[in-house]
Amino acid sequence: MLQHKPTPAPTSAWQRHLAEAVRDPAELLALLDLPQDLLPTGQAAAQQFPLRVPRGFVARMKKGDPDDPLLRQVLPLAAETVPAPGFSSDPVGDHAAVIQQGLLQKYQGRVLVMTTAACAVHCRYCFRRHFPYQEQGGKTSLWQSICDRIAEDSSINEVILSGGDPLSLADPQLMELVQRLERIAHLQRLRIHSRQPIVLPQRVDETLLGWLGDTRLTTVMVIHCNHANEIDAQVRTALARLKSTGLTLLNQAVLLRGVNDDVGTLCRLSETLFEAGVMPYYLHLLDKVQGAAHFNVNRETAKTMVTQMRGRLPGYLVPKLVEEVAQTPYKQPL
Ligand SMILES: *Cc1c(COP(=O)(O)O)cnc(C)c1O
Ligand code: SF4
Repeated sequence: MLQHKPTPAPTSAWQRHLAEAVRDPAELLALLDLPQDLLPTGQAAAQQFPLRVPRGFVARMKKGDPDDPLLRQVLPLAAETVPAPGFSSDPVGDHAAVIQQGLLQKYQGRVLVMTTAACAVHCRYCFRRHFPYQEQGGKTSLWQSICDRIAEDSSINEVILSGGDPLSLADPQLMELVQRLERIAHLQRLRIHSRQPIVLPQRVDETLLGWLGDTRLTTVMVIHCNHANEIDAQVRTALARLKSTGLTLLNQAVLLRGVNDDVGTLCRLSETLFEAGVMPYYLHLLDKVQGAAHFNVNRETAKTMVTQMRGRLPGYLVPKLVEEVAQTPYKQPL
């Protein structure tokens, strides 16, 4: 599971915001004017996978609403501790895809580097909540061997930085990795999967924009946004600044019961993203991870919702509904 890393002395504004994230469920409830009796139910869940949410994200939640779609993504609940058949600790076969420490390959041409175990937010539905990231990634000492391996295989043309959240790393570390990758001639694309432009827009600062704008690699950033309410003015500014470096912005969302499992909500998400310069990419069925069963939306309901989206939106705003199935050569369309 993901764990807090000792936070280094903050040096940038975003690192300060990260260090000040809410970690105490009682404080979260107090900030939202919610009764503390919601608390005991989630204690065991919080012990397994602690609460973590930046204050700027909390500010986008509606006070007094225990069903707020942003709150539901982060508040530990007793439901997480109820075992559910078919829900496991490695639903997507990540263990089997590890080709060497810190490096995963499931698909032709693309490898995924686990850069860090840390995230700015802890999402309750996360399929990585049980993954032993401490053993797999987050060690800059591994970067030489990771780059050597990529350099040996000319069929790899895209490197995906993942985690955890790769933007949890400080820029000097990321720059070092990206510079090493740039030296590999057959690499064409750099892809960064991050929830930080949404949950911690302060992360998009001059230093980040500087190296993103400088790299020779064609850059794609896939942000993770599940609900239109996650996008406020500050997030819009961060996204516009990212775009100004010339990268392509895509979004992937997870279909989550009680968060976004409604056609109107999904359409509003696509339209809000597009207004902010982001193309909808994937809508994922929930990975069947232990502790997340209460978020599950069944396949037929999911398919019906996406069909209804097609009737309401231009084709380019309808995300691809996919499911991750272990040991298959691509994400499975439904
Ligand atoms: C999801 C994923 C990718 C990217 O798949 P795309 O369909 O190209 O977005 C690559 N590697 C791994 C291990 C993945 O889980
Ligand atoms: S940011 Fe991504 S990796 Fe981190 S907890 Fe949320 S879903 Fe999981």
